[in-house]
Amino acid sequence: MSKLKNKVAVITGGNSGIGFGIAQAFKNEGAKGAIIGRNQETLASAVAQLGNNFIAINADVTKVADLERVFKETSEKFGKIDVIVANAGGGAVGTVATIDEADYDKTMDLNLKSVYFTVQKGLPYINEGGSVILIGSNAAHRAYANFTLYGASKAAVIYFAKGFSSDLLDRKIRVNVITPGTTDTPAFEKFIPAEQIKAVKTQFASVMPTGRIGQPSDIGKTAVFLASDDSSFMLGAELLVDGGMTYLAN
Ligand code: NAD
Repeated sequence: MSKLKNKVAVITGGNSGIGFGIAQAFKNEGAKGAIIGRNQETLASAVAQLGNNFIAINADVTKVADLERVFKETSEKFGKIDVIVANAGGGAVGTVATIDEADYDKTMDLNLKSVYFTVQKGLPYINEGGSVILIGSNAAHRAYANFTLYGASKAAVIYFAKGFSSDLLDRKIRVNVITPGTTDTPAFEKFIPAEQIKAVKTQFASVMPTGRIGQPSDIGKTAVFLASDDSSFMLGAELLVDGGMTYLAN
């Protein structure tokens, strides 16, 4: 399998969940590159599983100076960058009545500012004809209790794919966005007490048209397509990889 042979990728949040699923899928197709995260322990275990063609960089994607360091180090190590995956994200859950200013700022910094500057700081390094992949969320398309701010930030990320593609036409850099539905990742642990996680996943699966929630590998396979020349006619596009959750679930 070599759809991404010799391509160099930077994957933010590549140490966990969807980002790690993308890194594994890239590795299986012959890519190399850097995974970016803040947790040294998961960075070390993820890069050990990915093997010698990957490096781990500890950096905070909400800090522009950290992002500059990420691209400089990756480019020095591999000599070029072909693919950027701006995957790191998350944020506060709550309603318009409960999310305060500090949580608002943190959520927007992580989901929006980080994506904008990940792409901007990657531009001096990414090759002409490179592929940028953003990660949206089905929460951008439907109202879900407690996900208003998160959904709004992801709606803006989906717009970024169009706007960035337009901005970068002269360099032939394609920017597309993958929109996952509920996906089985450690993110559950951030919001749900450990003893309830299994039941919550079962509940989500029961309302999915496909009868299961997504796996990081589902997103990984789509990211391989968007990173490869197979998608060379796509830019500014959104791919829903949500098991039908957005438009078919009740
Ligand atoms: P996760 O918690 O498993 O992974 C999030 C990753 O982001 C981690 O690797 C973490 O280290 C990294 N990260 C967070 N803040 C960071 C920071 N400031 N600097 C550097 N790295 C940071 O979550 P996940 O479920 O794999 O989520 C990945 C992406 O997919 C996110 O953008 C999320 O919004 C999106 N998403 C997830 C789901 C889902 O159901 N899991 C659904 C739709 C969209």
